[in-house]
Amino acid sequence: MQIETIAVHSGRQVDPATGAVSAPIHLATTFERDADGGFSRGFEYSRDDNPNRRSLETCLAALEGGEAAVAYSSGMAAISASIEALRLHRPGRLVLPQDIYFGVRSFLTDTAFGRSLETIVVDMADQAAIETACREGEPGIVWIETPSNPLVSIVDVAAVTAIAKAAGFATVADNTWATPILQRPFEQGVDVIVHSLTKYIGGHSDVMAGAAIVRVGGPHLDELRAIQRHRGVLASAFDSWLALRGIATLPARMRVHSATALVVARFLEDHPAVAKVHYPGLPSHPGHAVASRQMHDFGGMISFEVQGGRDEAMAVAAALTIFTRATSLGGNHSLVEHRASVEGPATTAPESLLRVSIGLEHGDDLIADLDQALRSIGSSV
Ligand SMILES: *Cc1c(COP(=O)(O)O)cnc(C)c1O
Repeated sequence: MQIETIAVHSGRQVDPATGAVSAPIHLATTFERDADGGFSRGFEYSRDDNPNRRSLETCLAALEGGEAAVAYSSGMAAISASIEALRLHRPGRLVLPQDIYFGVRSFLTDTAFGRSLETIVVDMADQAAIETACREGEPGIVWIETPSNPLVSIVDVAAVTAIAKAAGFATVADNTWATPILQRPFEQGVDVIVHSLTKYIGGHSDVMAGAAIVRVGGPHLDELRAIQRHRGVLASAFDSWLALRGIATLPARMRVHSATALVVARFLEDHPAVAKVHYPGLPSHPGHAVASRQMHDFGGMISFEVQGGRDEAMAVAAALTIFTRATSLGGNHSLVEHRASVEGPATTAPESLLRVSIGLEHGDDLIADLDQALRSIGSSV
């Protein structure tokens, strides 16, 4: 089956009790035992398993082509659970990309578990550097994020995975920005895929959840499941229902996000008030060739640097009227964010950089909005 069909049908069935075409939300925390004490209907207590969460997990595993998915209360819960679960077999160092979701960096510095990990940051475009990082000590984990946050840089998943494997390291790919519609990291050999379902998969900025998906035959499922259940870091029934609802339109939405982002990126690249555009769909992007090979399309995230610095970037964000100034991404509303001020002193984002999440509005309207906002700084640059 094609991915559009999987997105609509996997994990769903017409409700056998009522014929409802859209599944009911199962808020019950506890489920009836059979007369003999068993649970022939498959559910016992909703921290262990819930019909809506199970449906979501079934669909996510099918979309990524994995063995199984485990749905958590947020993307960060999925990420921290994955690091913990993989360390069981790969207790060595964590090899991290320079450009990585800021929450991962905060997790590594602000929690005792995070601080207990040995980490090394490498340029994922430098294969010799990855090889060197994987040479010392016991095998650990190589972290892949592509496209990355906030610079929308591209990591060659197959190349990095091959280096990691040769050194006995496990690989995790954060596939949040590409989604399984645009990129299938299991086909390039990664061990675990993580997602923030809060972003494109939920798709409407109204659900917080995450997931870890294990490759077929991967050894990490039991531990990932145990962390979900026994720590209680699970996606609620309602959030699972919303995320699964979002998945039905994910293939169609990703096409629109990608097509609109490309025209917006081309417009920005030609604008005199813009110094640099980071979008893998542009031939000028250093990752364009790799992205063309490993992605079906280039996604909806663009970062651009305005002429000037922090003040000019903030002025452009302030002048936008269709874009909402807010963090996060992947919803129907276009969002704009000055990452350096969001991330604070530890940021690696340039002060002149704005990150935009291209929503589902018409590209002409987004371009007009960006044009008038960029004109407002035109006189000062
Ligand atoms: C948002 C995000 C996360 C974290 O997800 P939450 O649901 O906010 O916990 C992780 N990785 C990437 C790439 C993200 O954009």
